[in-house]
Amino acid sequence: MSDLKDLYQEVILDHNKSPRNFKELCDSNRKANGYNPLCGDKVTVFLKVENGAVADVTFVGSGCAISTASASLMTESVKGKSLDEIELLFQGFRDLVTGKPVEYTELGKLEVFQGVSEFPVRVKCATLVWHTLQAALANTGEATTTE
Ligand code: ZN
Repeated sequence: MSDLKDLYQEVILDHNKSPRNFKELCDSNRKANGYNPLCGDKVTVFLKVENGAVADVTFVGSGCAISTASASLMTESVKGKSLDEIELLFQGFRDLVTGKPVEYTELGKLEVFQGVSEFPVRVKCATLVWHTLQAALANTGEATTTE
């Protein structure tokens, strides 16, 4: 079990050190800002939504290792997925980090955040980017394209 924990930690450290999709998205049509005052984590999520699916997703921001790694892995996880799939993914992820039984079986790499459930103050660091993603999906007012 401790080997597995080390592996999980390695993935989180790697994504913190070199976050994936860490940039502004110039042709995004959804965007939202998130802030976790408990830790000081800040994140902005950029989305390109097309035909009910996320065609592209990026983020910028600054925060602790958990929040940065979570944002990086979120972008990898939701790219190309439909909004329904993303909702299921978020539910599963939330269950995972809050220590509830996870019904959704396709979390993939997101399972590295299982250890977060042992640290309640870290749950908001891990879920911040997902709440911001939801806000961006709901937000049609800040469209940056002519679509
Ligand atoms: Zn944090």
